[in-house]
Amino acid sequence: MSQQSRPRTNAGKSRRRQNRSKICHCCGADVMFCWQCRCGFSMCQSCMYENQWGMTCNGITWECPDCGAQNGYGNQ
Ligand SMILES: [Zn+2]
Ligand SMILES: [Zn+2]
Repeated sequence: MSQQSRPRTNAGKSRRRQNRSKICHCCGADVMFCWQCRCGFSMCQSCMYENQWGMTCNGITWECPDCGAQNGYGNQ
């Protein structure tokens, strides 16, 4: 069988999407997911977990330590 060389269609095209990971404002970690406030504050899940006792009183919303806004869990 004749071996065809594969056309390199993606050669010049950069497949790199702007995959910006998030920086936790609490521990400074570079994480995939952060809880974010509208003011720009973000906190990673482990920090949220650690500080949950001080961030939320009902488990439904968490209070941003920066601006004091209430943010809902799961509702980004
Ligand atoms: Zn963190
Ligand atoms: Zn905030």
